[in-house]
Amino acid sequence: MKHYHYIFAGAGLASLMTVYRMAVMGNFSNSILIIDPDTKTNNDRTWCYWQDGNTIWDAITFRKWKSAIFADENKTVDLDFGNYEYNMIRGIDFYSFVLAELKKHSNIEFVQQKVIDFADTGLNVLVKTETESYTCNKLLNNIYDPVLPKSQNKYPVLQQHFIGWHIKTGQPVFDSEKPVFMDFSIPQKGNTRFMYVLPFSETEAIVEYTLFSKDLLPEKEYEYAIQEYLENLNTGSYEIVGTERGSIPMTCYPFWKNNTKNIVNIGTAGGWTKASTGYTFKNADKLSEHLVIFLTRQDDFTAFYKKNRYWFYDLLLLDILNRKNEKGALIFSSMFKKGDASSIFKFLDEESSFTEDIGVISKCPKGLFISAFFRNITNL
Ligand SMILES: Cc1cc2nc3c(=O)[nH]c(=O)nc-3n(C[C@H](O)[C@H](O)[C@H](O)COP(=O)(O)OP(=O)(O)OC[C@H]3O[C@@H](n4cnc5c(N)ncnc54)[C@H](O)[C@@H]3O)c2cc1C
Repeated sequence: MKHYHYIFAGAGLASLMTVYRMAVMGNFSNSILIIDPDTKTNNDRTWCYWQDGNTIWDAITFRKWKSAIFADENKTVDLDFGNYEYNMIRGIDFYSFVLAELKKHSNIEFVQQKVIDFADTGLNVLVKTETESYTCNKLLNNIYDPVLPKSQNKYPVLQQHFIGWHIKTGQPVFDSEKPVFMDFSIPQKGNTRFMYVLPFSETEAIVEYTLFSKDLLPEKEYEYAIQEYLENLNTGSYEIVGTERGSIPMTCYPFWKNNTKNIVNIGTAGGWTKASTGYTFKNADKLSEHLVIFLTRQDDFTAFYKKNRYWFYDLLLLDILNRKNEKGALIFSSMFKKGDASSIFKFLDEESSFTEDIGVISKCPKGLFISAFFRNITNL
């Protein structure tokens, strides 16, 4: 049975960010195996995230926007990003960039296999794929198991679910300088539903119908909603040049408690998805950096990841949306109504001071959050 120092189960965002950092850092000459049935050669997703300053991903950033629009049925607000920019990276550019770097390192292998089981024996980790078995000193597991959060009822589990169409229109309709961050002017139908638009030119954009709710919709319902939105924009005829879809867990379930001495769960599988928004790119960027430093200094993965006060704030929002899913439009409109997006970005990035936290939270409907606070006080 072949032995590696590190095995990555799954070559997703978190694995590729971590192994890229290990490769360029130069401190990791031990053998590394990445296992994924997918070759990572498809443009299967678009990542956006807000950023203040440079990142190591700037070379592959497809588009940057300096502001955006927030809307509900009563108003449309220009969001002031301050020093932040909204960055977009195409999946294919990220995969190609990372895989090109990994090819330069003879200690790193990538095999197309499906992992079916793994176990920490205490001395090492046994990893089984459909065709082979391996051992390793440390396993970094990037495979999300939806059964884990769903098999408990202490923490609500919502999904950020969406279908997006990349379209080209015959006539100019989009403002290429202004993405639509959240547009709640559409029928809410008892849920938190909004449109999200990433414009590339006046005639080209990705338009997504997104919900933060428990249950997915039939595919047609997302598509009708996009069609209706485009009709209201008076796009005229348009061509669909690409589609994307997702269902991202939004939960405070403590995934990291499943870490063992030799197995760390990373990415969505490790709780790296921001529970209140479904955004994962920024957390994966930060946490992959922490993890690589951790690997150089520590041996026991049960010490990786700590719960912070933002975990509790996220729990309050999810508790409200779980009980009263229709309140999302009110909550997000209250937060964004003055257009000061930069303080909200800082808060969502978990980089705000406690006073700044209060500033953001106090914009939200107080009654809802006070009740949620008392319902969840035992989790503090
Ligand atoms: C279409 C889409 C758009 C998104 N847009 C954004 C965005 O704009 N901003 C943002 O912050 N987040 C976004 N997200 C959420 C999140 O960033 C992504 O889902 C992100 O890719 C999650 O990263 P990950 O590391 O958890 O794993 P993933 O990137 O999901 O990768 C998991 C990997 O595991 C592999 N795998 C699965 N099962 C096995 C198995 N049995 N054996 C081996 N390998 C296996 C898969 O093939 C895959 O390569 C989006 C998600 C989707 C789906």
